[in-house]
Amino acid sequence: MAGAEVGVPEAAEFRLESEDARPVQAARRVRVLLPLPFPEPFDYGAPAGLDLPPGSYVEVPLGPRRVFGVVWGEGDPAAPGAVPDAKLKPVLRRFDLPPMPEVSRRFVDWVAAYTMTAPGTVLRMAVSVSAALEGPRVLTGYRRAEGDPPDGFKLSPQRRRILDLLADGPPRPAAELAAEAGCTPAVVRAMADAGVLLPVPLRSGPRFAVPDGALPGPVLSPPQAAAAEALRETVAAGAYSATLLDGVTGSGKTEVYFEAVAAALRAGRQVLVLLPEIALSPQALDRFARRFGARPAEWHSDLPPPLRRNTWRAVASGEVRVVVGARSALFLPYPDLGLIVVDEEHEPAFKQEEGVIYHARDMAVARAHLGRIPIVLVSATPSLETLANAEAGRYGRIDLPDRHGGAELPEVTLIDLRRPDAAPPPRHWLSPVLRDALTETLAAGEQAMLFLNRRGYAPLTLCRACGHRLQCPNCTAWLVEHRLSRRLQCHHCGYTARLPDECPQCGAEGSFVACGPGVERVAEEVAELFPDARVAVLTSDTLLGPRAMQEMVDRVKAHEIDLLIGTQVMAKGHHFPLLTLVGVVDADLGLSGGDLRAGERTFQLLHQVAGRAGRESRPGRVFLQTHMPDTPVMRALAAHDRDAFLANEADARRQTEMPPYGRLAALIVSGEDERTVEQAALRLGRAAPHDRPELTVLGPAPAPLAILRGRHRRRLLLRGPKGLALQPIVADWLAAVEVPPGVRVQVDIDPYSFL
Ligand code: ADP
Ligand code: ZN
Repeated sequence: MAGAEVGVPEAAEFRLESEDARPVQAARRVRVLLPLPFPEPFDYGAPAGLDLPPGSYVEVPLGPRRVFGVVWGEGDPAAPGAVPDAKLKPVLRRFDLPPMPEVSRRFVDWVAAYTMTAPGTVLRMAVSVSAALEGPRVLTGYRRAEGDPPDGFKLSPQRRRILDLLADGPPRPAAELAAEAGCTPAVVRAMADAGVLLPVPLRSGPRFAVPDGALPGPVLSPPQAAAAEALRETVAAGAYSATLLDGVTGSGKTEVYFEAVAAALRAGRQVLVLLPEIALSPQALDRFARRFGARPAEWHSDLPPPLRRNTWRAVASGEVRVVVGARSALFLPYPDLGLIVVDEEHEPAFKQEEGVIYHARDMAVARAHLGRIPIVLVSATPSLETLANAEAGRYGRIDLPDRHGGAELPEVTLIDLRRPDAAPPPRHWLSPVLRDALTETLAAGEQAMLFLNRRGYAPLTLCRACGHRLQCPNCTAWLVEHRLSRRLQCHHCGYTARLPDECPQCGAEGSFVACGPGVERVAEEVAELFPDARVAVLTSDTLLGPRAMQEMVDRVKAHEIDLLIGTQVMAKGHHFPLLTLVGVVDADLGLSGGDLRAGERTFQLLHQVAGRAGRESRPGRVFLQTHMPDTPVMRALAAHDRDAFLANEADARRQTEMPPYGRLAALIVSGEDERTVEQAALRLGRAAPHDRPELTVLGPAPAPLAILRGRHRRRLLLRGPKGLALQPIVADWLAAVEVPPGVRVQVDIDPYSFL
């Protein structure tokens, strides 16, 4: 697995471009990497007097366009295919920024080589806010002039609102005032022209407060203190190291890694804490702020563009000391990164599946290696990849055994849905056992949570008359009925439609029936059973962004809600003291589909969900509804026997030489025309490296999502032994096959999704 093998050898093997100093050429030329999918940087001329050290952010001509780029090194006119001096286009200007650090540039090249993507495509992730290259914009704000408006100045309601808005606040930009007053910015400017408002320059963007590494944390328990000391030592060592910090939820892992963060801050270095996007709640940032006296800079896809721009620049200048961010934060141009923490390292959300396909945890290990800094991987349910690395001695390992304060683990009960007395009534989804438990919990004035990892009302809608199933026109997927929004939705491409009045196949009217449960349908059942309970449904449809999540968390804490129903968006570590019951409606859901990590993920997810019950003094109860109570996953969950489960899972993977005991690369062939896709896939299949006995090639086979967004898809899978880099093999393989226009071949190194 990448985590295992992302070591020096591969880094060395895959470096695309040498950084060796070369003699400076007479007519100076530089190689500039553009944020575009070209295989290599292009040469440009360096105008006399323009200092262009490697890493300079520059603007260059490209055909009729001007694009930004980064100086990747010196150019060589004698290189094969080099543009002759006479045709060399000049660098147009250099942006006023510190150069992209060497380690960041090497990281771009490394990720490009590892993921088999063009380096420019990776560069575009690293400079994802190209607007940040321009200097900070100076905004004009407006404040009220002293005294009353002059005679003859008519106070329209809009003008009055603007004056009210500025009554005793700071100066504000025209756009902001206009938005709040419900008018156009021209109204504000006209008031300034009349002398009623005065323009003042606003310092653009917030300054970033400096977290203080010298503030004391809580008094640590002896095992916590030992763990913290070990991590502080890795920071002090100032060298690459990787450490797994393993401990149940609530054991104090965060407090412990905060000590490492503090040590890095005291040493004057920058720190990156990677979290799965979904865990990036204001709550997590507040906790950091309480510990270090200042909020960290946050980085995720919801960040408003101006803040994104400012943050990027402040990271590049070194002003930002700590970034807490989602996976893309890894690509920020830290001049002096001294520590990386990957919290919830097992989270599948760290794998980016679109554009550049990469696993942020694995790339973070590579980044730490390139930067010669420590990395800490934190989890209550570590991935098999990370455990295997720890076992092999490549990663250090620190265990935190107990929940802080000795809170007990919840009691986990399996409800065997195959037993007639446990089965829910027809078209209902909650077993009598779970219903009774809910009744008790609500009667005791406590809170409960029902977990079902399925959005919408029902996963499948079919016609009672002819059996026709409503399918997405663009994908091999059923349309999911969402009653709240009164639409049918495809969860793969976003297609939506109204539920038709009559069946498109047989014309029967009102003949559609919902099959199976989604969270909305469970909510319906709960309303029927507990009409007085205050219920909230939590899914990515109902919670848009971290703020909405925070509001919901606050409402649950204030006991404005009795019963939560939701998907994995609510599995994360919120502390709800009154929540004592967790019911998992369909514990088997993740186990179908033949994904190699299905068991592992189900364990991780359900373990995390179960951890929501009884976090403080009250004991918690967890019920898992399952048809497979005898599988290792379910037994391990009931017995709290994580290690037995992992040992079992590791054995199975070892026997089949699957990751982390073997390596995988997937090829996904796609296109709009099924026949060309099929032919290209067959050609790839024939050209596969069948002659090498250590490799196995599976496929081509139609992908489970055989059609996605209107594109037909075929998959091939290459498996090789652990320790063998698959990239050169895949490169040779692809080079041997001509792919017709209109067909795309995507490479997924270390695939996590097999759809
Ligand atoms: P984890 O990250 O392992 O889930 P946390 O670090 O979040 O655990 O700790 C769980 C809770 O216990 C938090 O509220 C934390 O502040 C508290 N806690 C942990 N260790 C200590 C300690 N030594 N002293 C005081 N509070 C602690
Ligand atoms: Zn679709």
